Amino acid sequence: MPPSSRAQRLAQLERAHARRLQRYTPREEDYVEVIYELMREKGYARAVDISANLHVRSPSVTRMLQKLHASDLLVYERYRGIMLTEKGERLAKSVRERHGILVRFLRLLGVNPETAHRDAEGLEHSLHPATIERLSHLVRVLEDNPAWVQTVQPPAVRDPPRGQN
Ligand code: MN
Repeated sequence: MPPSSRAQRLAQLERAHARRLQRYTPREEDYVEVIYELMREKGYARAVDISANLHVRSPSVTRMLQKLHASDLLVYERYRGIMLTEKGERLAKSVRERHGILVRFLRLLGVNPETAHRDAEGLEHSLHPATIERLSHLVRVLEDNPAWVQTVQPPAVRDPPRGQN
């Protein structure tokens, strides 16, 4: 690489490393997402179910619920359950949609469902909304052209467990 483009690359990296001001942390988004899914599936969300679904201990759940209550994403009253606010529901739907687009994209690449969900789980919080929007467009185009997708998809393989690469 010529020195000028190397400097440019470094400058781009420097900008990429700048801390982005995100409205919600990945963890906050995960909570809201899981609460939304629990309510869809069971009609209610209890702290114990959140704890099981996110693999976190119940004191952390309580603390986070109080924080999300303070941010107006949900209403949390001990012994009375959890209700997402309109704002919380909007956020949950957005995370759910991002997750869905990413899974569809990864599936189109030939990634197996379990790995697709795992990878989408991290990416759903870190991609720029404009990137998700472009990706969503690409997914639609690809899904409309299954024959073309087949020509670029490698044969399905089982992924080795993480940590071995
Ligand atoms: Mn997540």
